[in-house]
Amino acid sequence: MKRGTKLIHNGFETDFSVGGNTGALGVPIYQTSTFDQGDLSEHREFDYARSGNPTRKALEEIIADLEGGAKGYAFGSGIAAVSSVLGILSGGDHIVAAEDIYGGSWRILNTFYKRWNLEVTPVDTTDLGAVKRAIRPNTKALFLETPSNPLLKITDLAGCIKIAQEAGLLTIVDNTFMTPYLQRPIELGADIVVHSATKFLGGHSDVIFGLAVTRTEELGKRVYQMQNGFGAVPGPWDTWLVMRGIKTLRVRLEAQEAGARKLAPWLKAHKNVDAVFYPGLPDHPGRGINEAQSSGAGAVLSFKTKTTEQAIRFLGTVKYAAAAVSLGGVETIASYPVKMSHASIPEAERLRLGITDTLIRISVGLEDPEDLIEDFDEALK
Ligand code: PLP
Repeated sequence: MKRGTKLIHNGFETDFSVGGNTGALGVPIYQTSTFDQGDLSEHREFDYARSGNPTRKALEEIIADLEGGAKGYAFGSGIAAVSSVLGILSGGDHIVAAEDIYGGSWRILNTFYKRWNLEVTPVDTTDLGAVKRAIRPNTKALFLETPSNPLLKITDLAGCIKIAQEAGLLTIVDNTFMTPYLQRPIELGADIVVHSATKFLGGHSDVIFGLAVTRTEELGKRVYQMQNGFGAVPGPWDTWLVMRGIKTLRVRLEAQEAGARKLAPWLKAHKNVDAVFYPGLPDHPGRGINEAQSSGAGAVLSFKTKTTEQAIRFLGTVKYAAAAVSLGGVETIASYPVKMSHASIPEAERLRLGITDTLIRISVGLEDPEDLIEDFDEALK
């Protein structure tokens, strides 16, 4: 079965899949906190909705299947998924993390987990030698994100996973930007995949949601302990919205990527644009690796204007892009990392990472790319 078909035909096409009997297309929303246990003579599958809910179970099975993993888990946000997965590690452990993982993932590592004595070393994971050198005797995990945010750097997943396996580390990959439609790290040997399903999986900027998938049942048990123990679970309505979003993922992502593929070279040729970062561009340094490990370049790109004033004017005057945090929705979003996602990073570190005040990140939506180009041209004057 092709991937696009799997988004629709995944075993949860009707309510029969969760014990219903009407043939309704889709999984019902089980809006309940608890489940009647009858005369207690048998243990029923669902007892309390933090521990499990049929709507949530359907989505968890769908995402596990799409990522090629054994078990899937849903959370109330992407950062709840990241934090809960990191919770399977112990105080005194060390992890190596890509230096440009999502800012919120850094925040939880450098605040909460730091206090719990989980050490972290940031590295440029596009440099396999640097990854190897960062490993210590107490290193337990490698945390990757590719393409990275906001500069769309590409990490060689198979290369990093091999290093991790040789050192006995877990590999955790944040697959938010690509989704399992374009990239499946578990098939390359990763142990856990996490998602902000708020982004492309939900796809409509109307829900905050997280997902995690484990390669093995055993790892699944550890993540489930965190899901149930920390309790950062989603409600069934939001779960249903993400399930619905997944059904249209293929058409959305393909059209959004097609838009990004038109915008990126156009931006590159613009006289007020200094640089464009998009793995679909022929001269992107990670293009070859990205093509080998995924089936697309995605719908997120970033660019630098020549001056700060141009960047600020662009964000203030662009019509078809909301100047907002987030990505992956049907509407184009323009983010200003310096003031948004990366505002908490000290200036010197930010500049070392190349995050200047001329940098704008674009999540390309479903608008006609010709309208976006016309609009961007006006805003870049
Ligand atoms: N991972 C990535 C790559 C993200 O971009 C985000 C949010 O922007 C998160 C995780 C956190 O997800 P959420 O905002 O759903 O908590």
